This record gives sequence, structure tokens and C-alpha cells, in this order.
Amino acid sequence: MAHQPMLKFVKIEKDMPEKRPPDLRKQDFDEIYREYATEKAAEQASRCSQCGVPYCQSHCPLHNNIPDWLKLTAEGRLQEAYEVSQATNTFPEICGRICPQDRLCEGNCVIEQSGHGTVTIGSVEKYITDTAWEQGWVKPISPAQERPESVGIIGAGPGGLAAADVLRRQGIQVTVYDRYDRAGGLLVYGIPGFKLEKDVVTRRNDQLEQGGVTFELNCDVGTDISFAKIREKHDAVLIATGVYKSRDLGGPGAGANGIVRAIDYLTASNRKSFGDDVPEFDSGELNAEGKRVVVIGGGDTAMDCVRTATRQGATSVKCLYRRDRANMPGSQREVQNAEEEGVEFVWLTAPKGYTGDTDVSGVMVQKMRLGAPDATGRQAPELIEGADYVEDADIVIKALGFEPEDLPTLWGEPELEVTRWGTVKADFRTHKTAMDGVYAVGDIVRGASLVVWAIRDGREAAEAMLEAFNAKATSVAAE
Ligand SMILES: Cc1cc2nc3c(=O)[nH]c(=O)nc-3n(C[C@H](O)[C@H](O)[C@H](O)COP(=O)(O)OP(=O)(O)OC[C@H]3O[C@@H](n4cnc5c(N)ncnc54)[C@H](O)[C@@H]3O)c2cc1C
Ligand code: SF4
Repeated sequence: MAHQPMLKFVKIEKDMPEKRPPDLRKQDFDEIYREYATEKAAEQASRCSQCGVPYCQSHCPLHNNIPDWLKLTAEGRLQEAYEVSQATNTFPEICGRICPQDRLCEGNCVIEQSGHGTVTIGSVEKYITDTAWEQGWVKPISPAQERPESVGIIGAGPGGLAAADVLRRQGIQVTVYDRYDRAGGLLVYGIPGFKLEKDVVTRRNDQLEQGGVTFELNCDVGTDISFAKIREKHDAVLIATGVYKSRDLGGPGAGANGIVRAIDYLTASNRKSFGDDVPEFDSGELNAEGKRVVVIGGGDTAMDCVRTATRQGATSVKCLYRRDRANMPGSQREVQNAEEEGVEFVWLTAPKGYTGDTDVSGVMVQKMRLGAPDATGRQAPELIEGADYVEDADIVIKALGFEPEDLPTLWGEPELEVTRWGTVKADFRTHKTAMDGVYAVGDIVRGASLVVWAIRDGREAAEAMLEAFNAKATSVAAE
């Protein structure tokens, strides 16, 4: 499609609240909201200048054809917009909700860079696909023919599910193994529901299941079934297990009650939103209600913890980070959201230990300053002597990032090559490991990363598997 200047502009007169006012019927609110969302999407899409040098597209890991679907949305051709959008992205409505767009597509929008505010690409992507689901344009998975090859996928996160989708649409027999009781990986149990509603994920899981993907849930590979057995059962295997070993902090008092890991805290909250029985939440151990909360860390997981704590009714929420605002790894947009919700950021601080006997009562905080750049080019935090103080806390949440588990040892597979960081070694394009017929994608290869990268990897690995199956089928036919 040629990139031409946009002619159609829609003006939004009213500002629509996100939540339904108590005196408005849900049905009426939904109707008004839909009208508002339609106008807003068209207005935003119309702002795209069709610049011809779509940096947004090149900075999207999936190289989504953003200018084209914005143009179609501006023209009201939503079904076509959806077709273009879903051609490169398995889960556009999920990426539209949770990609850190300020670091990807939107951060590179030329309108943003000329100081006029980015086109809200993520919101339009979400809107297009939500509409497609409502209108029944999302096609069920219905392969034209069944194929005999089978693939075992270990891990039902976005990497594994994106591969399952591509493979199953080509008629491959797909079984997904996951140790959790629900599919979705961090989409269900890591990322909070206020960023990604759980029914948006389960709708995709249902689509895969209805399309013939078999899910073996509550199945921990390495315990309930061996990796070798999975290799035996399938023609190819995809490792998409993510990274789950939480980085930890020591120091005096580190074993006190009330010092918890971010993943446990967020999982409990997410499980509760599904209506599960969560004793650790009900006992208050993993619930911030009525408590002074201190979160340690400056990444996106820390932002999810502080924002979850405010929603649970914490009396105060503070976030300690050892560098300053400009040098934190988390999305600036998330920091702004958290600040607007009442979270206090205490920059240039690091924990030295904890106060309290059995239960934690505070964090011993050391003040830091930024020194010379380290090997990575980032300014290294340095301790300021004699400036320690105690930050009161009833619950301390450690959100310091994640590392890979030791898969070769856990699975008794020394042949599975890993890097010195413990991530699985795989070709960056085909995602093949050194083991025959074994591929790997997502966080277990990249280290803690993003959903959109896991989707890209999963799609690429599936394509590489299909190529290998086709090559094998052709050579067998030629014999
Ligand atoms: C709190 C939090 C918030 C985040 N927020 C965002 C965000 O807003 N935007 C964004 O883009 N990214 C975000 N991320 C990162 C993103 O979630 C990950 O990059 C992405 O989920 C990686 O996908 P994956 O498929 O590689 O792994 P995962 O999503 O981690 O899925 C791996 C799956 O493998 C299963 N598994 C592991 N080991 C085994 C085993 N031995 N046997 C069977 N099953 C196993 C796990 O149970 C899990 O279901 C966030 C991460 C966290 C922790
Ligand atoms: S997938 Fe993510 S980076 Fe790509 S266009 Fe959508 S929101 Fe932007």
C-alpha cells in the first residue's frame, strides 16, 4: 500500500472516563465507550503523517505494518486493518496493551520526535483486535490438512503459544507442556490484570485448544516427565520455559517474615483475581492491604508490584532504586503511572539489611550517588558513607530481576548448551540448539525480556521447524 497523506480527521469533543460512573447502566456505558473508542482510534490513526520512513515499524520487534493499519483505521476500514495487523503478530491485542511502546514503536514515531506527541499506536492495535474479536473476524484455527509431524512445546508462555499457533495452523500435531495449572506463562501469573485482563489471555488459550492444540498442564518437565521422554514422543521439541530464578539480597534480617519475592506476590494477586483459593493471600502474607510497603528494584516487575500494592489498599508504597530516575531500567511511562497513583520513589538508595525480630519492621537503607560509568557504560552507584537510615515497612517485596534455572542439571541433559549466564544457546534466526530437533525461544534464550520478542522468536522457530519438516518430507518422497 502506498503511503499517502491522510485527509480524514475526527475531532473528539468529550473526555471519556475509563470507569463506568455508578449512575450509568453497564449497557449504556459500553455503548458510549465503544463510540468514544472508535472516534479516539480514528483520531489517533489520522495523526499518522504516513512519513514514508516508518521508524515505528523498524523499531517494532515484529516489524508490524503500522502505517498501513493506521491508514485503514483512519478510513474506518477496520476489518482490513485487523487483517494487516494480525499478519505479523499472533497476539496484537496483548502487545497493544503491554508492550513498552515508549521504548519501541511510539518512542520512534516521527511525530513524537518532532515534539507533537506520538500517535498512540499500541492503543489503536488493541482497539482493532478487540473489535475483531467482538465482530467475529478472528479466525478459528482450522488447518486445511492434518500432518503427521508432532511438536512438543515446553512452556505455555507467549513464546511457546506463538509457535503453537503457527504450527497448528499448518496441521502439525502440537502438545504444550506447562508446570502451571493455566496456560499463558507470565501473561497470566506475572503481569497484573490492570495491565492485561486475564480473559484476554484465556480467550487465546481457548482458541488454541479449540483449534486442536493439546495442553498438558500441571506437568513439570524434569519431574513429571523427563525431557528425554518428550524428545522421544515428538519429531521436534521447543524449549520456552522463561526465567524464574529470582535474584536475591542478603544482609542482616533477610530471613524475617514479610520479606517476599515479587513473583510470589504477583502470582498470589493474579490467582486471587481468578477466584482461586490462595491461603498466603488470605493470611496477609502476600497481601499489601493496610500495610506500609517497600518494593526494592527499578524494573517493570517493581512497577507492577508498587501498582498492585496501591490497588490492594496499602497505607504507603515506596520504591527503592539504587540509581536515579534517568538510569532506571523500567518504563518511564510506568513510573509516571505509579507516581500518579501515589507511589513514592526513593532514588539512589539500596538496602543494607532489615530491622525487626521475627517480622520485618523496616529496611536499613544506604544512600548512593552515581559514579564513573562501568563496563556497560552506565554510571555505577557508589555508597555515601554515614548516610544510612531506616525506611519503615510491614512488607518488603524484592523485585531484582530473574535468572534462568539450570536446565541441563534439572533435566539431566548435559548436552543442552547454555551460556555463562545460564540461558540456552540457540541460533538467533532459526532458534535451533545444538541438540538435534531441539529449538529454544523467549526469555530462556534472551534472559528476562519482553512479550513481543518471545512472540517473534516463537513464530520464527515454528517457521524453521516447518522448513525442516518440509525438507525431510521432500527427501523421503524423492527416495
Ligand atoms: C512481573 C512481570 C511483568 C512483566 N511485564 C511485561 C510487560 O508489561 N510487557 C512485556 O512485554 N513484558 C513484560 N514482562 C516480560 C514478559 O512477561 C516475558 O518476557 C515473557 O512472558 C517471556 O515469554 P516466554 O514465553 O519466554 O516465558 P514465560 O512467559 O515465562 O512462560 C514460560 C512458561 O514455561 C513454564 N515452565 C517453566 N519451566 C517449566 C518446566 N520445567 N516444565 C513445564 N513448564 C515449565 C512456566 O510455567 C511458564 O508458563 C514482565 C515480566 C514480569 C516477571
Ligand atoms: S507489537 Fe508492540 S512494538 Fe510492535 S506495534 Fe504493537 S505495541 Fe508497538
